[in-house]
Amino acid sequence: HISKLPQVETSIFSVMSALAHTHGAINLSQGFPNFKSDQKLIDLVSQAMNSGFNQYAPMAGNLELREAISKKFELLYNTSYNPETEITVTAGATQAIYTIISAFIHAGDEVLIFKPAYDCYEPAITINGGKPVAIQLVTPGYSINWDEVKHQISDKTKMIIINTPHNPSGTVLTKGDMLKLQALTEGTNILVLSDEVYEHMIFDGLKHQSVCLFSGLKQRSFIVASFGKTFHNTGWKMGYCCAPKQLMEEFQKVHQFNVFSVNSAMQKGLADYLKEPNYYLQLADFYQEKRDYFLNLIADSNFRFKPAQGTYFQVLGYAEITNEHDVDFAKKLTVENGLASIPLSVFNLENKDDKVLRFCFAKTDETLKKAADILNKL
Ligand code: PMP
Ligand code: GLN
Repeated sequence: HISKLPQVETSIFSVMSALAHTHGAINLSQGFPNFKSDQKLIDLVSQAMNSGFNQYAPMAGNLELREAISKKFELLYNTSYNPETEITVTAGATQAIYTIISAFIHAGDEVLIFKPAYDCYEPAITINGGKPVAIQLVTPGYSINWDEVKHQISDKTKMIIINTPHNPSGTVLTKGDMLKLQALTEGTNILVLSDEVYEHMIFDGLKHQSVCLFSGLKQRSFIVASFGKTFHNTGWKMGYCCAPKQLMEEFQKVHQFNVFSVNSAMQKGLADYLKEPNYYLQLADFYQEKRDYFLNLIADSNFRFKPAQGTYFQVLGYAEITNEHDVDFAKKLTVENGLASIPLSVFNLENKDDKVLRFCFAKTDETLKKAADILNKL
């Protein structure tokens, strides 16, 4: 067979965004803000270009930026990653995830993932000869059944991928979850890939449980983060990865040959921007307000929901409206009603259809109001 990924189709994000575009629908499908990032950050990136940051950055990334990232870990999590040896700036979280998997997964290695899962994990495992072992999250609530995880861990388990706050469900892992993961991996060689791209979008006073807060986990984990999510510029494709030195060395062996280094001016602009820290801390309130604004508008609709605990996504159950399959309903909603969303079954084990759609609320109030008006009519 010529294809290395015969089952893989065009990503649902491309499909739904294109459908929204064709039909002029409001696009709450693919996750991205429809407002601008801070003008100050844009100015700093322009300044960086004008002052000569236009050639290759160092392989691991602009050192000032790595120092700023390191400071963030001290400030928010009271832990340290050495900017010289334990941090790499990447072309978004996606490249970090692919690089981690290709650096460590040998043919036949098993990687545990939780479904619904963000769509880039599985193909990266498969193309590197690994075997994704999928565990369905328990609904409602999308929680992890740790007995099932224990049952699925074998001699072949090389890595476990977690994602908190969780795309698409908006749930967050608790301290109890992290302690269970720590206990299950203790004394093993299992690596943890912790996708924390929504770490700063966490609501109602909940606390982000980063793997770096648990010493037993930190030593075996990669943290993956995305500036695109945090600073409202997903199209810049800037992110980073942190891990203990010995793991980061292996990561960089791959990174230096699949990208070498990433956008120099943007790294310098971000480094300057982060000299005044705490931009991160405003993000939770900002998105909690958006979530509440949207949910208040649809409080009397026929959709059922539990407010998202984190991310900029809200899942809405539509079982009281129709029995249609979620992919069909999402397409119909886009074409006939002018509102695009993401059907959850595409991320589930065996396309399990819970009659749930995901809506991105990283949008202006005006857009959210228009979307709510459509939802209220259903
Ligand atoms: N992981 C998750 C859970 C995501 O939602 C996203 C963005 N959709 C990514 C990784 C990729 O982030 P980036 O755009 O920085 O590559
Ligand atoms: N992370 C975005 C989402 O979940 C999509 C990113 C992409 O289009 N690959 O909607």
